[in-house]
Amino acid sequence: MQSKLQLLPAIDKLLKTDRVKDWYANYDHTFIKGTLQTSIQYYRQALLAGEDIAVSVEAIIDYAESQLKQIGGDGLTPTINATGTILHTNLGRALLAPEASEAVQSVMSDYSNLEYDIQAGQRGSRYDHMRELLIQLTGAEDALIVNNNAAAVLLILTAFAKGKEVLISRGELVEIGGSFRIPDVISSIGAKLHEVGATNKTHLVDYERGINEETAAILRVHTSNYRIVGFSKMVDDRELVELAHKNGLPIFNDLGSGLLLNLEQVGLSYEPTIKEMIQFGYDLVSFSGDKLLGGPQAGIIVGRKDFIEQLKQAPLLRALRVDKMTIAALEATLRLYLKPELAMATIPTLKMLSRSQEDLLTMAEELRRRLAHLPAVQAEVTQGFSQVGGGAYPTDQLATYLVKVTHENYSASELEEALRRSDSHIIPRVGEEKVQFDVRTLTYDNVQRIVGEFSKL
Ligand SMILES: *Cc1c(COP(=O)(O)O)cnc(C)c1O
Repeated sequence: MQSKLQLLPAIDKLLKTDRVKDWYANYDHTFIKGTLQTSIQYYRQALLAGEDIAVSVEAIIDYAESQLKQIGGDGLTPTINATGTILHTNLGRALLAPEASEAVQSVMSDYSNLEYDIQAGQRGSRYDHMRELLIQLTGAEDALIVNNNAAAVLLILTAFAKGKEVLISRGELVEIGGSFRIPDVISSIGAKLHEVGATNKTHLVDYERGINEETAAILRVHTSNYRIVGFSKMVDDRELVELAHKNGLPIFNDLGSGLLLNLEQVGLSYEPTIKEMIQFGYDLVSFSGDKLLGGPQAGIIVGRKDFIEQLKQAPLLRALRVDKMTIAALEATLRLYLKPELAMATIPTLKMLSRSQEDLLTMAEELRRRLAHLPAVQAEVTQGFSQVGGGAYPTDQLATYLVKVTHENYSASELEEALRRSDSHIIPRVGEEKVQFDVRTLTYDNVQRIVGEFSKL
């Protein structure tokens, strides 16, 4: 062992190799030296522990290089979503339309009129961008953008319900992924949750009885990620709004995934649009930018002008404010909705939702054919279902085509791991001892890359 320890190279020797010299293009001397020392230390410990490992200059540099990659490399990186779940929160939710990416690009490296009124030549407000656009698209009096919808709900409740009671139906005590629970949000801002009705049924009279002098507002939360089916009842929107206003109370609606277009046209079940919600008379409606809307992460609040004005005065707003890249992306996305056909044709979320069966089958057949050409690979096409994801349309099943693949030298889980860790980071489904590609969320470029990674196996 002693002799093996002597094989550990001196740091100076490593520093003189061509491989390490290349690192100086991206990293400084202290960092490189530290990484090499860590690698030598790793090998020393392994040898002292009696492990039988081969020591060489190359191996020590390999180890150091993997460390460099972990710290300075990969990071946030593109993946190929072959799960078919369109709004996959773990994989970054909505993809931006090209128009939105370009808008981000252009404000990123130039100065902009973020808080400057170009016409008047004086200070402007970042919240003025998109106001007119959102008013136009939703029919609301005013609009405000924050960091995400969770922030929107937090801001609204802090401004209007702090220290008082919020009435909410027991059927709407929603938890959204990542442990955002409505009851926790309400208690965290020092408001009190006043639950009314039962889990499956809430009647107007339940709300009516719940109202007392401590009541600050009624909150409606769209049960976007689950459905209560069977023996159930929810109070009609108009009736509830009327009850709130008759009692001088504001009423808010956390819509989750806000819809600007009716998606029954692509075969999904009926969901009210934001415009309809505003027509029902809600004082404020909030929704996400990166769910069905198909834009960047953002929380959008629309509704009564005096209410929005009050939100703008809240000190908390400063902590929840959106950045210029978000504003650029959201504004460009919303502009596409001025012509709904354009939105359907350019926003990736809407495009994936509305892909035809022929289009899906053609892509699935192409992927199958090209994979089946490779040695040791078997592939077949079957029918299946995709999910919308992002807590939207939990019970809607979108018919799709799956390419199911096996490989003679890999089990399904080994194959999944190899694809996931490949340069293209392909994320498929796994089932029936097969790796499954749902083509709904793929592009032809993705198909090309999947075939490429298989050919490297
Ligand atoms: C998704 C969702 C949220 C959270 O929205 P984010 O934009 O992810 O913060 C809040 N409420 C409902 C009902 C949701 O579906």
